[in-house]
Amino acid sequence: PVDRTPEIQEARLKLPILAEEQVVMEAINENPIVIICGETGSGKTTQVPQFLYEAGYASCIDSILGETFTIGITEPRRVAAVSMSQRVAKEMNLSHREVSYQIRYEGNVTDETKIKFMTDGVLLKEIQKDFLLSKYKVIIIDEAHERSMFTDILIGLLSRIVPLRHKKGLPLKLIIMSATLRVEDFTDNTRLFSVKPPVIQVDARQFPVTVHFNKKTPLDDYSGECFRKVCKIHRMLPAGGILVFLTGQAEVHSLCRRLRKAFPYQKNNSCCLCPPLNVLFSSFLSQALPKIDLNSYSVVPVDEGDEDRDIDSDDDAAGSDLDLDLGDGDSGEDEKSDSSLPLFVLPLYSLLAPEKQAKVFRSPPAGTRLCVVATNVAETSLTIPGIKYVVDCGKVKRRFYDRITGVSSFRVTWISQASADQRAGRAGRTEPGHCYRLYSSAVFMDFEKFSAPEITKRPVEDLILQMKALNIEKVINFPFPTPPPTEALAAAEELLIALGALKEPPTTGRLKEQLAAKLSCPISPLGRVMATFPVAPRYAKMLALSRQHDCLPYTITIVSAMTVRELFEEFDRPAVSEEEAAQLKGKRARFLQMQKVWAGQGPMQKLGDLMVMLGAVGACEYAGCTRSFCEENGLRYKAMLEIRRLRGQLTTAVNSVCADAGLYVDPKMKPPTEAQVTYLRQIVLAGLGDHLARRIQAEELLDDKWKNAYKTALLEDPVFIHPSSVLFKELPEFVVYQEIVETTKMYMKGVSAVEPE
Ligand code: ADP
Ligand code: MG
Repeated sequence: PVDRTPEIQEARLKLPILAEEQVVMEAINENPIVIICGETGSGKTTQVPQFLYEAGYASCIDSILGETFTIGITEPRRVAAVSMSQRVAKEMNLSHREVSYQIRYEGNVTDETKIKFMTDGVLLKEIQKDFLLSKYKVIIIDEAHERSMFTDILIGLLSRIVPLRHKKGLPLKLIIMSATLRVEDFTDNTRLFSVKPPVIQVDARQFPVTVHFNKKTPLDDYSGECFRKVCKIHRMLPAGGILVFLTGQAEVHSLCRRLRKAFPYQKNNSCCLCPPLNVLFSSFLSQALPKIDLNSYSVVPVDEGDEDRDIDSDDDAAGSDLDLDLGDGDSGEDEKSDSSLPLFVLPLYSLLAPEKQAKVFRSPPAGTRLCVVATNVAETSLTIPGIKYVVDCGKVKRRFYDRITGVSSFRVTWISQASADQRAGRAGRTEPGHCYRLYSSAVFMDFEKFSAPEITKRPVEDLILQMKALNIEKVINFPFPTPPPTEALAAAEELLIALGALKEPPTTGRLKEQLAAKLSCPISPLGRVMATFPVAPRYAKMLALSRQHDCLPYTITIVSAMTVRELFEEFDRPAVSEEEAAQLKGKRARFLQMQKVWAGQGPMQKLGDLMVMLGAVGACEYAGCTRSFCEENGLRYKAMLEIRRLRGQLTTAVNSVCADAGLYVDPKMKPPTEAQVTYLRQIVLAGLGDHLARRIQAEELLDDKWKNAYKTALLEDPVFIHPSSVLFKELPEFVVYQEIVETTKMYMKGVSAVEPE
């Protein structure tokens, strides 16, 4: 029996899924595979694990040994795995020893864990160790609509594991949960599930959300448009939280700063919503459709004949009294600060520290209005309480990969219609809400309906290595919910063959046979070792080669640093004030100095950016990895903590492969010797061999666009060393790079000088 507090009980009863508990549990008891669809916020993630727990799915495996089954839930995002485990523990009044989480770097799983939230990648690793997942009686794949690569693969694998477990007489239940009803890729795919699984739809008591389109679509300054819209909402509309969707961390911070400046909130500010505002509200409420001139804004909702759209069609349009058009376009909004209307502004994005993320779940201080400025993470993974207004810029930042070359670029693009509707839905959780779309309905109609599954859009070498380690040789025959393009599969196999992770295919025979053989190479012993490391195959190869000359601690550190995003603070961001600009300049100067120190001397410098990473992590650990050390030296504290965890994890992984390595994480690691540097450079070349680039020499220079440029094997166009690299001025003849990112040019990042024979 679960002992919940009265407040939790009450909150639960409001969740739509609670009314469906019996239907859900009957379906699960009677079917091996069940799909549950329900709007974001309907209670899927927090409640279904509790239903299962109460129905005995975490019961004893063996009453004598006292071992228990675990209820496993996978999330595509780390944020969700951590915060949902915390929430469920709290709701059930259980400790984190029993409701736990595991993400790549960390976790709090114990022998007593009964409900385990994990990222999808973690479960994939577990399948390698125990294909039948015998610890689990039920697996929930959450957020399946996101179609993350690992989620897709898990569904494919589980479609085979479930029948195998059935044959063994130890049935495993699979529950797939999705925020949208678009599940045909799972249900109507007979290669995946020969028997169509039942789909349970949870009718969310979603309150109606009135959607307001902009008349015009701002060309590029959607951030400024968000600012103006939030100001208007805050000044004119009744209480209720605001959720703003922007595309990236820098934008989020800059909007937060602007809003805090416009509507400052001081901790001991006893001001509550001041009377004039309330008077304003009631005057709005008393009029059917207020026609108030808001600095020459158009007040009548006009949008090329398309009236405001009501998302929830079976409810009366709500609050038409609030249906005032907030206007489009620029008004020359004055940014005078107004402390009589405090706004409690919080950022939310995935790299934000968990304790800061958790703030959005608490009620804002009395007398303030909550305004969360978020990236896409707020779209489905997390439900923020009390949101009544959504401001949607309509964009998302995505990473695009070239299928063949792997060159990636970050681009801000329009979202899909499904995403836009998800975002709007965030406004109607507790009462009728409003969504302000900063684009016209015509633009919306041009959005793609759904975004394509991740697996069709990115390189798949890590995935293929994991699959080969599971002895899935003919990857092409795998029951993917949506298969990746054949070129992407071929490119992945080729890379893995080059790295020695797969056995070479025969080079004789007919071309067609050769090609077929190429797409079904078995894994090599080296590949098996590589697959045990939770990093990309190129880095895994580097680890696998580092036994000699005691290089492992260095390779582990370099690989950890390369794997973690954004080690260094961003100094190029636009500053909001002169003061900030000066501060950034000072920080940047200090960082450039440190970068030189970390890059070392003599032969070490040849390791380039990888040496900088090694030096930075070494220095940071030496100083105790404190927040203040990071802030002083331009390192991102959260990144450093992640690197520390990953070093620990990789050290454990290496020790378990070669028991005699006896490695430990040394916080006072000495710099590598000259001989070690030589080996490290060879190791780096072995791992990144396909990322080799050669500088165009003066005598070869035919076209100015090749000045200071490098030529790579796969690209026709010139590539350049990124200005942030320590080798930017050096321009060594041969380099390997960690990745190429395309911005104004194609830039290599994470560059080391090498000497290929
Ligand atoms: P779904 O998975 O269907 O999107 P969830 O189970 O995540 O829904 O959320 C159900 C409700 O629980 C939401 O309305 C949200 O307000 C509440 N909730 C979730 N996490 C927290 C939290 N950390 N603190 C407070 N409330 C939360
Ligand atoms: Mg959920």
